[in-house]
Amino acid sequence: MTEVLSYKYATEYRFSYDDAFREERGLAALDSETGASLCKYCCGKMHAAFRSKPKKSVIGQQYPTNYSVDECLSCGWWRVDESTGSDSMGLFISRTVGELRRYDTSSISIPLDELRSHLRSNPKDLAWVNPTKFEKLMAACLRDAYSPCEVRHVGGSGDGGVDIILVTSSSEKYLVQVKRRADLSKKEGVSAVRELNGVLFREGECKGIVITTASGFTKSAKSETNIKTPTVGVYKVDLFDIADVVRLLGLDARPNKKPWELFVDDESAGFHYDSDEVGRYIIRT
Ligand SMILES: [Zn+2]
Repeated sequence: MTEVLSYKYATEYRFSYDDAFREERGLAALDSETGASLCKYCCGKMHAAFRSKPKKSVIGQQYPTNYSVDECLSCGWWRVDESTGSDSMGLFISRTVGELRRYDTSSISIPLDELRSHLRSNPKDLAWVNPTKFEKLMAACLRDAYSPCEVRHVGGSGDGGVDIILVTSSSEKYLVQVKRRADLSKKEGVSAVRELNGVLFREGECKGIVITTASGFTKSAKSETNIKTPTVGVYKVDLFDIADVVRLLGLDARPNKKPWELFVDDESAGFHYDSDEVGRYIIRT
């Protein structure tokens, strides 16, 4: 079982930073509130990752906004300082720090995109993923693979043999069965395919997909993917094994952006916050 470290969450601090405040508290005191030159998680050295070009303030105008980003090279924790203000307000420092979260790979609460990017580089951990979470993950992957399309996750207990329903833009409907196997080296047997054929018969549909984390499918499983029927023609079942799962996971592989880059991408736009129900600040993606 592995842990996934996430830096997606951010916490914002705001300080008044005029001369009086500075004298009273001292710059060091301000820094110590969120960690200064050493990483507060692993005590690694913080490294200057980004500095905006310093802009001078003009009397009578609003202070320009300056950014600086520091990050820990060993664990990835980061800190963004945004200084801004106006003549009437004085100068303010907004400090936004990455928040380190740990998730168990088998946990249902791990955010889907964290899990997806973790599994892309650690496919062996597919063996640990919570089965319902894996169904949801595959639903997200199919959405990318068949886009534009409609995807519905219908799995869970009493799913009636269907975990995902996929309808493509050309109105082709696929019933999808997902198997998260703990042993990635085994082959998926015929029963998963046979079961899906039964569901296709019951639902009057003719296209299906079996997705498994197993290394492949047995010969007899493959032999039941094109069953001719007297009513709807042929039951066509596509088989996706672990290699296909890894390929699906990589479909949305965006360039690996550091979380703080979302803050300083567009300097003029400044920071973007969405507040979730528990009042934390999350970087808008
Ligand atoms: Zn660190």
